[in-house]
Amino acid sequence: MINKKAFKEIKKKLGRDKVFDDKETLYTYSYDATGNHFIPDLVVIPECEEDVSNLLKITYKYKIPITPRGAGVGYSGGALPIKGGIVLVFTRMNKVNFNVENYTAELEPGVITLDLQNECKKYGLFYPPDPASLKTSTIGGNVAENAGGPRCFKYGVTGNYILGLEGYLINGDKIRAGSGIIKDVAGYNIKSILIGSEGTLAIITKIIVRLIPLPEKKELFRIDFNSLQKGSEFINLIIKSGIGPSVLEFMDRSSMEAACNHLEIILDKNVNASLIIEIDGNNEDVKNRKARLLKLLDNKSVLFYMSAENEKQEEDIWELRRNISPAIAKLRPKKINEDIVVPIYKIPETVTYINGIARELDLLIVLFGHFGDGNIHTNIMVDPDDENEMSRAEIALDKIFKYIIAFGGSLSGEHGIGISKKKFMHYQFNEIELNLFKEIKKAFDPESLLNPEKIF
Ligand SMILES: Cc1cc2nc3c(=O)[nH]c(=O)nc-3n(C[C@H](O)[C@H](O)[C@H](O)COP(=O)(O)OP(=O)(O)OC[C@H]3O[C@@H](n4cnc5c(N)ncnc54)[C@H](O)[C@@H]3O)c2cc1C
Repeated sequence: MINKKAFKEIKKKLGRDKVFDDKETLYTYSYDATGNHFIPDLVVIPECEEDVSNLLKITYKYKIPITPRGAGVGYSGGALPIKGGIVLVFTRMNKVNFNVENYTAELEPGVITLDLQNECKKYGLFYPPDPASLKTSTIGGNVAENAGGPRCFKYGVTGNYILGLEGYLINGDKIRAGSGIIKDVAGYNIKSILIGSEGTLAIITKIIVRLIPLPEKKELFRIDFNSLQKGSEFINLIIKSGIGPSVLEFMDRSSMEAACNHLEIILDKNVNASLIIEIDGNNEDVKNRKARLLKLLDNKSVLFYMSAENEKQEEDIWELRRNISPAIAKLRPKKINEDIVVPIYKIPETVTYINGIARELDLLIVLFGHFGDGNIHTNIMVDPDDENEMSRAEIALDKIFKYIIAFGGSLSGEHGIGISKKKFMHYQFNEIELNLFKEIKKAFDPESLLNPEKIF
C-alpha cells in the first residue's frame, strides 16, 4: 500500500493523466502473458525521461517498489508487480530518432518492435531481431529479456544490436552504458549486464540500436515431414550444408494442427513436423543458395514443400508460425510455456526424450520454436483444476530441465527466468554463481525495490 503523502506527491509532480489508481487500470496492468496477475498499488505511464526521473526521486524516498513494463507479453512473469507498488508502463515513450549515416537509431523503450522494423525499411535499413510477439512487444521489453526470434539464427539476438543504453537506478541516479559506436571496451561491460536483466537492475529510458542494410532478396519455404524425427534431423542437414539460412524454425504436429485450425487451413494428415526456412542476401547469392536448398529438399524424408511466390504467401507462412502460441492456448486451459536450449546436435535426441516423457506421464506437450538455435519451445498443456495432471506436469518439467542441463543446456533461451523458472535456477548455477548474481543485484539495487523477487 502506497502511503497517501507519496501518492499525492507523485500525482502533483507528474500530473493526473500519467498516474492511475482506478480499479480498471490497476487490473489492466496486473498481468502478463503468463496469465498470472498481481494487483499494483499504482500505475504510472510516463511520457518522457524527466517523468521517470521525477518519479524515482519520490518513490526512493518512500521505498516504493517499481516494476517496469513494456507491452506485458513477457512469458516469465517479469512485468508482474508481485510486491505491489508501482507498475511503470513505457508504451507512451515511443520516439524513434534515426542517424542513417551512422547506421543507428535512438529509441525510447516503448517503441513497438515491428514499428521499428517498418521505419527502418524507409531508409533501406534492417533491424533483424524479430520475436514472434513483434506486433506487440516493446524494444524495452526486448532488451530486458534479450529477446530472440526466427531471424536470430543468422543475425543474432536483441543484445547483438544494442550499442548503448541509458537509464536510471532505483535511487534516481542516471546511468549510461555503451554509446552509439561499434567498439567500446572502456570500463566493465555494464551494457551487457543490463541486457537480459529482466528489469531488475535499472530502468531503461534510451536504447541505441545498430542497424544493417536491408537484404536485397528473401526466399521463404515451408517444408513438411511425415515424422518428427526426420524433421528434427533435417535441421542438422541444413546447417551442415552451408546454405546459411536466416530462419530455421520447427513445428511439431500438434502446433501445426492447432495453428491450422485457428486459421481455418487444412493440414495433411501425414504431416508430423514442419520447418520454416528463409534464405536472404543479394539476388545472385540467394538464387544460388535456393538452388542448393532445392537439391537438398529432393530427399525422401521430405513429404512436401512450398516456397512463397509472393508477399501474400510469405505472410501466410509467417501467420501460421506466429499463431502457434495463441492457437495452442485453446487446446487446454493453461500452457506451461518453457523455452529450453540444447546444443544443436542434441535436438533430435531431446525431441525424442520429451515425447517419451509426454507418453509416460500422459501429457500433451507441444514442441516448436527456433530449433536452428537449439531453442525448443516446450509447452506442457494442462488444466490447473486437475491436480493430478498438474503434478504430472511438475514431474515432467523437473525431468526435462535436469535432462537438458546435464549436457550443457539452458533453462531459457529468450523468455527469461522471471518468477516462473526461478526455483530451477540452482539446476543450472552453483551457489557461488548464484551469490555473484545476488551481489550484482545488490550493487545496483541494495534495497531490492526494483522489480523485486524476480530471477532468484
Ligand atoms: C505470442 C508470443 C510470442 C512470443 N515470441 C517470442 C519470441 O519469438 N522470442 C522472444 O524472445 N520472446 C517471445 N515472446 C516473449 C515476449 O514477447 C518477449 O519477452 C518480449 O521481449 C516482451 O516484451 P514486452 O514489451 O511485452 O515486455 P514486458 O513483458 O512488459 O516486460 C518484460 C520484462 O522487461 C522489463 N522491462 C520492460 N520495459 C523495461 C524498461 N524500459 N526498463 C527496464 N526493464 C523493462 C520488465 O520489467 C519485465 O521484466 C513471445 C510472447 C508471446 C505472447
